[in-house]
Amino acid sequence: MGKRLSGKVAIVTGGNRGIGRAIAERLADEGAAVVIGDLLGAGAAGTVEGLVLSQLDVTKEGSIRAFVDDVLKKFGRIDILVNNAGIVIHKSIDEQTADDWDRLMAVNLRGPFLMAKYIAPEMRRNGSGAIVNIGSVEAFMVNPWHTAYAATKAGVHGLTLGLAVDLGPDGIRCNTVCPGWIDTDLNRAYVEMHPDRSLIERELGQLHPVGRIGSPSEVANAVLWLASEDSSFVSGEMISVDGARTKKISLPAILDEEYRAKLTTLTA
Ligand code: NDP
Repeated sequence: MGKRLSGKVAIVTGGNRGIGRAIAERLADEGAAVVIGDLLGAGAAGTVEGLVLSQLDVTKEGSIRAFVDDVLKKFGRIDILVNNAGIVIHKSIDEQTADDWDRLMAVNLRGPFLMAKYIAPEMRRNGSGAIVNIGSVEAFMVNPWHTAYAATKAGVHGLTLGLAVDLGPDGIRCNTVCPGWIDTDLNRAYVEMHPDRSLIERELGQLHPVGRIGSPSEVANAVLWLASEDSSFVSGEMISVDGARTKKISLPAILDEEYRAKLTTLTA
């Protein structure tokens, strides 16, 4: 296994589970000291499999400042910030309240802004740094009942452009990974709404030209690339990790089935 991040200190927000946990593990595999900042229940802070778990609520400016101070006290530097913490609320525009909107914005967009704001001065002192945001393909195309979520993710993409431009002269790069459908708790609830889980999984797979949904480790691999010097001239980019789902123009289901049937015959 390579050690592309030896000597680096990385922060992963929302890294206690899901995509964030896979990112934290991948960065640690490559030699980084990784601090996960997450909500965490009482007594959950500590160390798990070499990863440091620390309490952080990205909606609270005071919590972010205390977290950053603590990381600097313990590790002396910060080289990589992964803004991963995120929530989703499935509601129609009629049901959605201003509080729902504000909560989504606070976690998904204001949080990444504040994390970057308090960590950039430290990266600037080092003369280098990499910020990787987790956006979403839902900034390009949207599931029903995700108006506010999509708006937060489009905001993350805008934030990425702004940070890349403003912090580039200080040697800090900023990019965003836009996951497609990734198997985590966040969207498992969606799949479980239907009684026939295997049917849903098969149909979801068919929406992706690669034939399946993605895993957290596949997002983590893209984050690693953007966090490492392997991507040293890449900044301000939105990189989809979605099995080409957003590249396929959808056909009516019946035509799609006929196309698949023909393809099976041709390749048999
Ligand atoms: P999960 O729900 O599995 O994990 C989200 C993590 O973020 C949890 O550990 C959660 O803590 C933490 N978190 C939530 N609110 C806060 C907060 N205020 N401060 C600190 N941490 C917080 O989600 P995923 O792993 O699926 O999603 C990770 C990111 O990827 C999100 O930004 C999401 O929008 C994005 N994404 C996911 C996709 C998918 O298909 N899964 C697709 C596209 C984008 P707790 O456990 O306490 O709730």
